[in-house]
Amino acid sequence: MGMRTPSRLPAALFLDMDDTILEDTLSTAACWQTACQRFADDIPSLTPATLMAEIDTVRAWYWSDRGRHRQGRLDLDRARAEIVATALRRHGIVAPDLARRIAVCHAELRDQAMKPFPGALETLAWLRERGMRMALLTNGASAPQRAKIERFGLAPFFQCIVIEGELGVGKPDERIYRHALNRLHVTPSQAWMVGDNLEWDVMAPQRGGMTGVWIDLTRAGLPAGSAIQPDFTICALHELTTLLN
Ligand SMILES: [Mg+2]
Repeated sequence: MGMRTPSRLPAALFLDMDDTILEDTLSTAACWQTACQRFADDIPSLTPATLMAEIDTVRAWYWSDRGRHRQGRLDLDRARAEIVATALRRHGIVAPDLARRIAVCHAELRDQAMKPFPGALETLAWLRERGMRMALLTNGASAPQRAKIERFGLAPFFQCIVIEGELGVGKPDERIYRHALNRLHVTPSQAWMVGDNLEWDVMAPQRGGMTGVWIDLTRAGLPAGSAIQPDFTICALHELTTLLN
């Protein structure tokens, strides 16, 4: 498929981290499934499949609310424990401690599964070699996000790292993009934001005058009737090398 060619290359790139540089949520379902199976003996009245389905239902409900999403992503351990506890409670089981252990198991599995996308680190190196100024803009709490940056050696690629839990505001709040623009001394029209989240990485940056590049992680295309129209769409970070060449 042909890719639209940019008429002007960016002076700075703002990159999202989770599901943009690091493979994250693609393993979610499998990790919940394994966690449910591991604790099957502790919950004889529920099959792992039933618990898994209930967790899915509660997760969808939990993360659909903007405020709850914000609170939850800043304390993922607590959010996940609450989700499992709610799922168990819906089957008459009150077991907050067990819920916490299942959630911790899930978190450990997610952590083990996390890895850079194929070609992602090479792409960051390629961009750095070309002198591209880069900022990392990631939502979530400081400690887990810093741990990922450290584990995968991401810091040297970026002139600026902005984490929601450290700045006090996250995407899509305009202040986070402005903070990065100021730090890199570029105007909005000189900067591109690249990420998998249509609202956080495309719409909000566009509203601020930036170019929004969407990573269509699942290759499903834009949702039907999407009001958000990315300036460019790619399916993986490494496709940036084609877009920017
Ligand atoms: Mg993301």
